[in-house]
Amino acid sequence: MKTTRNTIAKAAILELITHSEVALSHAEIQKLTGDLCDRVTIYRVLDRLVNEDVIHKIATTDGTVKYASCSHSHENHSHNHVHFSCEKCKSVTCLENVVPMFKLPDNYLIKGVNFTLTGLCPNCI
Ligand SMILES: [Zn+2]
Ligand SMILES: [Zn+2]
Repeated sequence: MKTTRNTIAKAAILELITHSEVALSHAEIQKLTGDLCDRVTIYRVLDRLVNEDVIHKIATTDGTVKYASCSHSHENHSHNHVHFSCEKCKSVTCLENVVPMFKLPDNYLIKGVNFTLTGLCPNCI
């Protein structure tokens, strides 16, 4: 029984994130799923989806964590793209084609990039 419910929750949450144009926070996902799953289930499902590399986490400038789906359209799919955070409507968008370039000193190895730009999105400009 438990497995079935989790599977349904996972499918529903993935569906939400995949079809959303903007990244979603835990609270927004909870609101959108309604009674389908409790907050702990949502955390667990999100963790699993992140581990499976289906979605990625975005730490926003105000400290909320948001989740967005990963586009696997590129052969070397990476999470090194830039995120844009709108200060007016608070939406966070993946700018998959914008990849920041770094020239690091020797002996540094990048394992993750968290690059968020703030400003106004097309809807708010
Ligand atoms: Zn906006
Ligand atoms: Zn992203």
